[in-house]
Amino acid sequence: MNDRSQPRGLLFIVSAPSGAGKTSLVKALVERDPGLMLSVSCTTRPARAGEQDGVHYHFLDRECFEREIEAGAFLEQAEVFGNLYGTRAADVHRRLDTGRDILLEIDWQGARQVRARLPEAISIFVLPPSIEELERRLRGRGTDSDEVIARRMTQARAELAHFAEYTYLVVNDCFQTALATLAAIVTAERQRLAYQRPRLAALLDPIESIA
Ligand code: GDP
Ligand code: ADP
Ligand code: 5GP
Repeated sequence: MNDRSQPRGLLFIVSAPSGAGKTSLVKALVERDPGLMLSVSCTTRPARAGEQDGVHYHFLDRECFEREIEAGAFLEQAEVFGNLYGTRAADVHRRLDTGRDILLEIDWQGARQVRARLPEAISIFVLPPSIEELERRLRGRGTDSDEVIARRMTQARAELAHFAEYTYLVVNDCFQTALATLAAIVTAERQRLAYQRPRLAALLDPIESIA
């Protein structure tokens, strides 16, 4: 496919250890950028208070989830904290094929699978300013028991070890600074030639015909 064909959307991946602020940052990012849509993952985890089916996640029981795995419905899927998580391929492709951008908030195992299938994906890793601050935030969120927090801290260290697989690293110390940095990455990626060319055909085609 050449640069002048149909516009294609950009695929962003955001990963971070639990508690780094990924969900809060991504929520704020998509709220201020109507051109960016957050992909709704499927999960076997029970819904937390305030989470709505189809909005925060598609909540599936394990049997339904496994049936979708067998049917090849997932672009990627992984087990995190004993629950299955996955991104439906059809949702992502439908969006990208119509020229719209999408963001996946997924763990490092899923990020690897997406990169293998869609190497053009732009991956961003969000880091906490320190491990101590990560634990403070997990406790402060008040959504998980002590046992779950301890498990998430162990997992968080393992997740952190994968930072070097990502294109961009963003430290979430000051929330507003981290948010502005994420928005800047999205903006810069949208100025690439391949993204601009089909979208600026009215401007660029006459210029090219001069040459
Ligand atoms: P959080 O840690 O508070 O964001 O907890 P979540 O339950 O929202 O996410 C749990 C883990 O699953 C995180 O590591 C996410 O990055 C990961 N995750 C969420 N959605 C997906 C997905 O669609 N695919 C994959 N592979 N991982 C996901
Ligand atoms: P994740 O999705 O990575 O697990 P959350 O977005 O749920 O993280 O954030 C974890 C907790 O830390 C939440 O209570 C959130 O309000 C808080 N938080 C997020 N970013 C910051 C920040 N820059 N400074 C202080 N607290 C933060
Ligand atoms: P939580 O249970 O706290 O909502 O999410 C825990 C972890 O699962 C997070 O780190 C989140 O990024 C990850 N996660 C959520 N959805 C998916 C998904 O669809 N695929 C993968 N691989 N990970 C996911």
